[in-house]
Amino acid sequence: MSSVVERIASGRTLDITSRAAARAIPWRRGALVTLTYHRLRVEGNDDLHPGLATVDPELFARQMAEVARRWNPVSLSQVLDATRGGSALPPRSVLVTFDDGYRDFGEVAWPVMADLGIRPVLFVATGHASDPSRWFWWDRLHRALGDRSESRFRSLATQVKALGHAEAMALVDDIERSSGMGPPRRRVVHNWSELVWLEAQGVDIAPHTVSHPLLHRSPASLAAEELRGSWAEVRRNLGRSLPVFAYPDGGFDAAVLALVEATGFELAFTTVRGGGRPGWGDPLTVPRVNVGRRTDLSLLRAQLAVFGGAPQHKQAQAGPRVPIYARNRD
Ligand SMILES: [Zn+2]
Repeated sequence: MSSVVERIASGRTLDITSRAAARAIPWRRGALVTLTYHRLRVEGNDDLHPGLATVDPELFARQMAEVARRWNPVSLSQVLDATRGGSALPPRSVLVTFDDGYRDFGEVAWPVMADLGIRPVLFVATGHASDPSRWFWWDRLHRALGDRSESRFRSLATQVKALGHAEAMALVDDIERSSGMGPPRRRVVHNWSELVWLEAQGVDIAPHTVSHPLLHRSPASLAAEELRGSWAEVRRNLGRSLPVFAYPDGGFDAAVLALVEATGFELAFTTVRGGGRPGWGDPLTVPRVNVGRRTDLSLLRAQLAVFGGAPQHKQAQAGPRVPIYARNRD
């Protein structure tokens, strides 16, 4: 298996890999792959950072058709129920998640999934949903630097991620001011009335903090408020919310995990790459498979086969709290 994983990691994956993997591996009842998307490559968003716009709508539709045809799309409630010891998930389960709440989710991605009977999860940064003219820092940085400064973007993004959230946002404010552009005005994320509509249509909306800080770089008091506040805001606006969370940028450590547990979340999704099976690992460090810019249909098939069908080593339940659901790290 490791050679398949290596080939996937290197992007050198052919269709035959997934077919061979599918033949060689007995599908495991309850195995779950959670896919992560952020936004699709739609027109009119050129001023946003392109790194999160992973697939165009046409490829997305083909990916979702693949999931609906050959896999079992499951809902967040099913995953939560299985985690609590209820009904096991069907073989080849796939949960589709979108992070950050960009508007192309409701405008482009959701109609595709609704037609196919896929029930996705949308993780929203609630402060952005409440003030939708507010942009995420990576998009503000990209807009301030312009298209031709990808290396500068990368070095500044590294600096931002090394700082505490307040200092990091002050740095982005400075760069935006010195660009002379002023703050952006166009709304790029869903507001609450759209989220209420999406939830009524069958989308599960779950918190992704208030302001999208890196929790493991934040003081405990801020991290606790980001967790508690974002969950409360989802419940206040939608009337309900499952005890489920996604870490901004996948960032967590032992202290953050303790806070997530103390807040009452029962499932929390990371960006650690892997598949898993509810009940096998720590439900607060559920791995996902990111759909990146190189994820064409063949690579998606291969990743689903590897992470959804491969025999998984049951991990010891005792010991340090690390992402034990996972088989692989990015
Ligand atoms: Zn995010």
